[in-house]
Amino acid sequence: EHLSSNGSDPGQIARAVYDVEEATSTAFDIILEQKMIKSETRASLIKFLQLLVAHHPSRRCRKGSAEVLVNFDDLCPSDMWSTEKQEDSDGKSALRNFQICGKDVPRGYWMFCRGSKNDTRGFSCGLWVLLHSLSVRIEDGESQFAFTAICEFVHNFFICEECRQHFYDMCSSVSNPFNKTRDFALWLWSAHNKVNERLIKEEASLGTEDPKFPKMIWPPKQLCSSCHLRRSQRNNSIDWDQDEVFKFLSNYYGKTLVSLYKDK
Ligand code: FAD
Repeated sequence: EHLSSNGSDPGQIARAVYDVEEATSTAFDIILEQKMIKSETRASLIKFLQLLVAHHPSRRCRKGSAEVLVNFDDLCPSDMWSTEKQEDSDGKSALRNFQICGKDVPRGYWMFCRGSKNDTRGFSCGLWVLLHSLSVRIEDGESQFAFTAICEFVHNFFICEECRQHFYDMCSSVSNPFNKTRDFALWLWSAHNKVNERLIKEEASLGTEDPKFPKMIWPPKQLCSSCHLRRSQRNNSIDWDQDEVFKFLSNYYGKTLVSLYKDK
């Protein structure tokens, strides 16, 4: 079966509910394996967990995130990775054995985010889907909190060095605090499109793209025709109807994504 996430079948996004769980659990495992929790990154992990507790689309990830938060000082003692404790810290093993989205996750495979090659898509796709799904779920009054939680999380904990730097630069260029869900969701959408734009150029020369999932400025007309006003003649960029884009994002990453998931 050919899955085209960028193509014309919005029904495919429903499969991403599995991938947001997979991405959450993978992110957490990487943080532990790479010993990324340090005195200077603890606060940003707590912030991101708070966002997950309230707004993760999967109930079992919300529950697991809450348990990590409630027991944070025991699970992540501030000296958990100090040199003398490195090999046999109880804190480390307690956390290592903790599965943030429950015992069935990670499953070891991707659904919506499955690449056509082993080393493409997967985790980074799942992380984007998780971030977008958080961005449409927050309340207006949480939008600045969500923005800083996501910026700091990517900056401190995303495994791809180049990505964290690029993303951090985009975060740093925001000058006014967000006070609407809509504005933050649209900012994240536009940041993702800036990454896509760069990769459209880079991947062609690096040969790192997934041939079945070419990067594109998103959403294409087939997914949301009302989002597109017209192609501006001057620089060939797309003129967006931002109200329509926000409506589309809310539906795509909000309602559709959770619809399989009432009881989990
Ligand atoms: P992804 O870009 O991962 O997108 C996943 C899905 O989201 C798509 O299939 C599509 O359905 C949807 N989507 C696409 N665009 C948008 C949008 N604008 N708004 C909402 N939804 C959208 N790679 C680099 O090489 N350099 C970088 O600097 C870089 N920065 C990154 C920063 C972050 C925060 C993340 C999470 C990833 C970054 N990556 C970067 C990885 C890269 O963006 C892709 O995730 C990866 O190449 C896999 O691409 P993909 O085809 O699965 O689609």
